[in-house]
Amino acid sequence: MVEIKVLTDVLKANDAIAEQNRKKFEESNVAVFNLIGSPGAGKTSVLEVVIERLKGEYRIGVIEGDIATSRDAERIAKLGVETLQINTRGACHLDANLIASALSEFPYQDLDLLFIENVGNLICPAGYALGEEAKIVVISVPEGQDKPAKYPVIFRNASLMLLNKIDLLPYCDFDIEAMKNDALAVNPDLEVTATSCTTGEGVEEWVTWLRSKMQQRNSKG
Ligand code: MG
Ligand code: ZN
Repeated sequence: MVEIKVLTDVLKANDAIAEQNRKKFEESNVAVFNLIGSPGAGKTSVLEVVIERLKGEYRIGVIEGDIATSRDAERIAKLGVETLQINTRGACHLDANLIASALSEFPYQDLDLLFIENVGNLICPAGYALGEEAKIVVISVPEGQDKPAKYPVIFRNASLMLLNKIDLLPYCDFDIEAMKNDALAVNPDLEVTATSCTTGEGVEEWVTWLRSKMQQRNSKG
């Protein structure tokens, strides 16, 4: 089928550019994490809480992907870290080429840790490699527990699931264990952390996950 062939070629071309991005990140020893989740899952909020805690330890930067506005970049820039906003002008995901162009105007070489906040969308960002070390899927309690079954690709491709807004559990019909089991059925290696940026619950665990990733890298040399 022609349509499927076109998509395969697009993804292949994307993968080749992602590989070039990855080489650049490796040469500069920057750890890159690609955050993916629906609009309103709390991607910017989970970044704010870890940046507050880790900015004294690591040189951190953030690339914000949005269809429009620089609102998220403004929130992140307030924390005093290097920030760049990419507006996709309607496109529903970041691709490796957008990141490659962003890198020419972003001092990623000076960073230890770069977060890329993808466009709010649980579907196609999962298929576009950007050159990241790992994908992190952010999902929130009010979205409902059926997401791993209905949108398996991102759960399969992610290394960590942040189950966010757990302070809302008392108001939602949401079974954490059942949701985790669905996610693990799709990806048995998926690590899971439950967080609330409102109460701070789980934030220390999320910080610890990032620290351990950074330490693993440094011990590799
Ligand atoms: Mg955001
Ligand atoms: Zn898309």
